Amino acid sequence: MSSAGIYTHFPFCQQRCHYCSFRSQAVGSLPEDEREALFAEYLAAVRKEAELWQLPLKPTTLYLGGGTPSLLKLHLVPFLKVLKQRFGIGDHHEVTVEANPATVTGEELAALREAGANRLSLGLQSTHNNLLEACGRLHSFEDFLETWNAARRAGFENVSLDLIYGLPGQTLADWENTLADVLALRPEHISLYALTVEEGSRWEALPQGAFPPDEEVAAEYELACELLEADGYLHYELSNWALPGKESRHNLLYWTGGDYLGLGAAAHSHLSGFRVWNSWPTSLYLEKVKKESRPLAYSWALPFAWGKWAATEGGEGLSLEDKRAEALILGLRLIRGVDETAFRARYGWSEKWDEEIGFLAEKGLVFTDPLRLSKQGLLLANQVFLRFLEG
Ligand code: SF4
Repeated sequence: MSSAGIYTHFPFCQQRCHYCSFRSQAVGSLPEDEREALFAEYLAAVRKEAELWQLPLKPTTLYLGGGTPSLLKLHLVPFLKVLKQRFGIGDHHEVTVEANPATVTGEELAALREAGANRLSLGLQSTHNNLLEACGRLHSFEDFLETWNAARRAGFENVSLDLIYGLPGQTLADWENTLADVLALRPEHISLYALTVEEGSRWEALPQGAFPPDEEVAAEYELACELLEADGYLHYELSNWALPGKESRHNLLYWTGGDYLGLGAAAHSHLSGFRVWNSWPTSLYLEKVKKESRPLAYSWALPFAWGKWAATEGGEGLSLEDKRAEALILGLRLIRGVDETAFRARYGWSEKWDEEIGFLAEKGLVFTDPLRLSKQGLLLANQVFLRFLEG
């Protein structure tokens, strides 16, 4: 196994945003002592899980994501140090912590920076307070600016901001303002996501008419492509832009078929062609890690030498065809596209794809040499991907 990443999931949020049904538990209404006890138990369990795995990994990235890791406040600091030591993560490696504005103080940011976090990912979503409120976000744009300034003061020189477009009630002018506000700050990295209303989220009950039509959502994406590129941002992945050299190394591992170990409740791992995922809900995860038993059901997928994968709930080995299709789709997410020679050497090729690529090129959705999505293809990426799954 070569270079790899470690992802740690923190399945806690203050309250649930209206579009979200991620594997995260709202803890805002828990009494403080119960909440503190839950966090302490969870961090101890993840540390134990990290010890139970015995993988021959050489991680080069560490990502603390969620949920809202910043809810764990200063408890995250010793935890981060332990994890870095456990996996041999050094200062030259990428260590990202996700945070939500107004859940993290300047003192906490300084302590995280001091402990080795060198990249911060902030969920901003919009700079319009009425839209933030409508989404069920707990922060205003002014709260975000406080967190942003505190992050810079704490020495974070690599900050990523997440924004959402296609929100109910959001106009193209609102979106343009949000982009202008963000570009004025010049973050090193920007992720833009089209709103997807997840099953089980509060907004699932909204009528279709509440959401902007597809053409408007497409116009918002096109506007972002234009403005970010004009401001010197490199569009390197379907939904991600970075200043030169500031691409997310951790996420690049996902898009290039790299290995990663996921720790914590509901975390997913990809290890040498096996995909495994941890138990959910958190209570079940905690119970399994406490028992330390190795679930024999997945011993076909995971060698015994890899320690006790105590929290593993499910797993699958990918067939060559699955791996190949997945690798092609992930490769097409990258704006640089797919290096066909290297791809063929690693995964082989499916004969049916030549026909699909010919069809897509004729429709103006992909370019060949190298194989990559066109501007139109970026807008219809999911339809393009589907052809490789069905093909
Ligand atoms: S969007 Fe993020 S902060 Fe909001 S509920 Fe989902 S995981 Fe939590």
